[in-house]
Amino acid sequence: MVFKHDVVVVGAGLAGLRAALEVAGNADVALISKVYPTRSHSGAAQGGIAAALGNEEPDSWEWHMYDTVKGGDYLTDQNVAEILAQDAPRAVYELEHFGVPFNRTPEGKIAQRAFGGHTRDFGKAAVKRACYAADRSGRVMMDTLYFQVERKGIKAYPEFQMLDLIFKDKQVVGLVAYELATGEVHFFHSRVVMLATGGYGKIYKTTSNAFANTGEGLYIPYRAGIPLEDMEFVQFHPTGIYGLGVLLTEAARGEGGVLRNDAGERFMERYAPTIKDLAPRDMVSRAIWTEIRAGRGVGGKDYVHLDLTHLGEKKLAERLSDITSFVKIYLGLDPARELVPVQPTCHYMMGGIPCDVDGHVLGDKHEIITGLYAAGECSCLSLHGANRLGCNSLLDLVVFGRRTGLQIVRDLGRLPWNEPPENPDRATVERIRRIKERKTGEKVGSLRSSLQEVMTTNCSVFRHEETMEQALLEIRSLQERYARIAIDNKGLKFNTDLLDALELEALLGLAEAVTVSALNRKESRGAHSREDYPERNDEEWLKHTLIQKKDGEPRVFYKPVTITRFQPKPRTY
Ligand SMILES: Cc1cc2nc3c(=O)[nH]c(=O)nc-3n(C[C@H](O)[C@H](O)[C@H](O)COP(=O)(O)OP(=O)(O)OC[C@H]3O[C@@H](n4cnc5c(N)ncnc54)[C@H](O)[C@@H]3O)c2cc1C
Repeated sequence: MVFKHDVVVVGAGLAGLRAALEVAGNADVALISKVYPTRSHSGAAQGGIAAALGNEEPDSWEWHMYDTVKGGDYLTDQNVAEILAQDAPRAVYELEHFGVPFNRTPEGKIAQRAFGGHTRDFGKAAVKRACYAADRSGRVMMDTLYFQVERKGIKAYPEFQMLDLIFKDKQVVGLVAYELATGEVHFFHSRVVMLATGGYGKIYKTTSNAFANTGEGLYIPYRAGIPLEDMEFVQFHPTGIYGLGVLLTEAARGEGGVLRNDAGERFMERYAPTIKDLAPRDMVSRAIWTEIRAGRGVGGKDYVHLDLTHLGEKKLAERLSDITSFVKIYLGLDPARELVPVQPTCHYMMGGIPCDVDGHVLGDKHEIITGLYAAGECSCLSLHGANRLGCNSLLDLVVFGRRTGLQIVRDLGRLPWNEPPENPDRATVERIRRIKERKTGEKVGSLRSSLQEVMTTNCSVFRHEETMEQALLEIRSLQERYARIAIDNKGLKFNTDLLDALELEALLGLAEAVTVSALNRKESRGAHSREDYPERNDEEWLKHTLIQKKDGEPRVFYKPVTITRFQPKPRTY
């Protein structure tokens, strides 16, 4: 079937919803989402959204901007950080007016709490900057914005999965999507496609990410020749539940929780003497692995303890009720009385589709790709640099999701309807037919597990030339084996076997892009920590990586970082 809309937004997380709201009323906009919209991963966000409201203690947008730049280990483009920090209070009050039920101070203002890397006075001490709704901030924001989307009558296509983008004369003319309920392949003809498809943490074995986070939204443009930016920067969150990766929000430490090693020592005092457990995530994740490698993991194992026992049942119930129940359900422990085993878990991708501050997707010569836009975790505005600060993602989604929606409306006047090429869905239909036809072959699940194992062992918190070379060899051998996959379910209705197979191609391609980008960056910066090049090297590496498929091979090139107010300095806390 062919559907026709001026604007198709792919992804119904907070970035997609916020952008669609801006377009509605100005043009015909539709949302497509591979999961039911409100099940998008933004709903899992726990801790909060950053904004220098100064409701609990003095704060300023300049301090927020500085923290974002320093947190990003100076790879952040400072013009972008400035927009984020300046626009944050407006964005939070807008959410409040939409209906988000934030926690309140006794005087009735929006309550705020501390989060990793957010400081006052340019790094002097931790500051309360995160606005929150208990530890389900993303859930309430999602429900509130989805209600607004319904009110505006925006057409949604739930459980439709984008499998291809269609271009004509280098302009986007629509996309091809698979309808999960029926197995039908559809063409969406449009003047604009906006990508808001989130992250791809599923390239790792242990991750806080949802099953849907497999990254086709990045892989499909990459396959079409559009570069990806800063892919080597993968954030590991320090406190995933041991063995599972389910997230225990940083707000747990913001509320006073501390990390302890086997001896019960509060080891972060040694690594970040000023802000201790509230150091940025890259530093805390490295500190945990350093403790484990030094034999100070609990009982000699590969985890440490998160100690919440001193917070008391009342505070846990009021402010951290969701993670309290996760710990009870998944571990059978009561965090008010017992220590919680945690280890770093893959959490957030700083890299993505290169964009300008208005959401235009940029090609290899930094030219605008006509009709294609992106926002949210799948995009790379060079905002989070080499390491994102907690609570800056939700803010990124609503600030830059809105800007992208506004820009689409501005651009629509000069974007014509272009005729698509003949049979735009042909390649996708063929691809599906080939997978379904093969009677015997490699199993998707075992290839995916091997990939996740390879990435976790060889290219995660700590990296080394030898381990990454090994990873690359293994990824390429998995790519060869992928050509021989076979699936058991040949049906049309809810064929997740088929979708797993299609998603695996994206996971393999993105894992290769991460590893090649990481191998090429011969320094340590933010979340990219190389044991063979342990120092940050601004002279040679203060630049963004771009990786692009050329004749089937990834090629790497670079572009400068924008520095306005803050010159790079050693990053101590
Ligand atoms: C457990 C957890 C807690 C977090 N807590 C916080 C926090 O407290 N504060 C903070 O700032 N950040 C937090 N983050 C980070 C933040 O939540 C995410 O970065 C953010 O929600 C991503 O939003 P998004 O709109 O870009 O994408 P998502 O919310 O991930 O949505 C992606 C959308 O794209 C759709 N999609 C994907 N691929 C396709 C396809 N091929 N076809 C069709 N649709 C597709 C999905 O169905 C979905 O609708 C947290 C992350 C996690 C994992």
